[in-house]
Amino acid sequence: MSGLTGVVLVINAGSSSLKYDLIDVESGASRASGIVERIGEQSSLAKHAVGGELHRQEGPCPDHGAAFELVLGAFDAHGPDLAGVELAAVGHRVVHGGAQFSAPTRIDDEVEATIERLIPLAPLHNPANLEGIRVARTHFPDVPQVAVFDTAFHQTLPPHAYTYAINRVWREEHRVRRYGFHGTSHAYVSRRAAELVGRAVTQANVIVLHLGNGASATAVAGGRSVDTSMGLSPLEGLVMGTRPGDLDPSLPAHLARAGISLEEYDRALNKDSGLKGLTGSNDAREVEERAAAGDPDARLAIDVMAHRLRKYIGAYAAVLGRVDAVAFTAGIGEHSPTVRAAALDGLRDLLGIELDPAANAAATSGEHRISTPSSRVAVLVVPTAEELEIAREAAEVASASHP
Ligand code: AMP
Repeated sequence: MSGLTGVVLVINAGSSSLKYDLIDVESGASRASGIVERIGEQSSLAKHAVGGELHRQEGPCPDHGAAFELVLGAFDAHGPDLAGVELAAVGHRVVHGGAQFSAPTRIDDEVEATIERLIPLAPLHNPANLEGIRVARTHFPDVPQVAVFDTAFHQTLPPHAYTYAINRVWREEHRVRRYGFHGTSHAYVSRRAAELVGRAVTQANVIVLHLGNGASATAVAGGRSVDTSMGLSPLEGLVMGTRPGDLDPSLPAHLARAGISLEEYDRALNKDSGLKGLTGSNDAREVEERAAAGDPDARLAIDVMAHRLRKYIGAYAAVLGRVDAVAFTAGIGEHSPTVRAAALDGLRDLLGIELDPAANAAATSGEHRISTPSSRVAVLVVPTAEELEIAREAAEVASASHP
């Protein structure tokens, strides 16, 4: 994607927040970024970062339309002047693209309607993403709007990796299959990992571990996602901040028989499981500190998280056949030597993964190689760049449709 130019406004609309980043695609630099939080609550908070300064504004903000007005107001008040910036595109993060979207897509009424039809697959995310699209299309009717889907990178999964062993009606009518998420992050990090180990993207086999509040693992073979830990929804797979990852599928029936409603079940698995369920906190840093101080719940949580990671690394090594690199990214992956070491513990003899403890301990920001020189598999820390990836993909789509 080299040679791209222009400035892209990246919008990431969540259910109660609106994040944005104005990115110069050529240099990769952010000209300004910010977030409106607590949309729909009594008082919301808008933060706008520009030129090394952070501007905050509190006040009522009933919906995403009002949030967008706050964002435009922040640009007016603190710069840069959006009227003076010729936007190449507005790039929207959209969580679920189903099986319909395998690439970033220029948004028109039909695309918007398709994203709406996908709401049953992502009831918590797609409605908010659509709100962001609608307000941005209203405000910037002449700027190309591009949807960049979290699921798109995983549309290369082979049928044996995306098919659940369930009946045909569920698979076909209800579209139940593995879709996978965090696609922009896995795409960017796997590409960077290939560059860092000196291989062409098409020749590199990489296991990417995106470990943030949400967490997922992906096996990438020659630039293509061939397996990934999140499934129909972002609940499957690794232990996360508030989500459990893998569970026994009998759980909903078991709990229903104990009188737990579907709403309660859904809420608990989205908001009250994972590290939060095990320790009361979804903040990995706090859990680590408590574990170091001897708290048994926190120790168990780290052990459960690390054990799950080891299982996925082993499984994906078997899926790939040969592993060139394991790449850690996102909040925990980029900043926690403890979790990285725990995840790779005991994999030297089996997989040839040999961590360099000093390099691991020193790697708390930026890109690093943290394996020993003799390690068969390179272990890397690669900060993710989801906003930049969305900006680049949006600029590429916009330039292709407007030569
Ligand atoms: P993200 O969703 O990518 O922003 O990641 C958020 C997660 O990263 C939270 O669980 C944080 O506690 C965790 N995190 C951030 N910095 C550190 C750190 N220095 N050590 C451990 N976890 C961290």
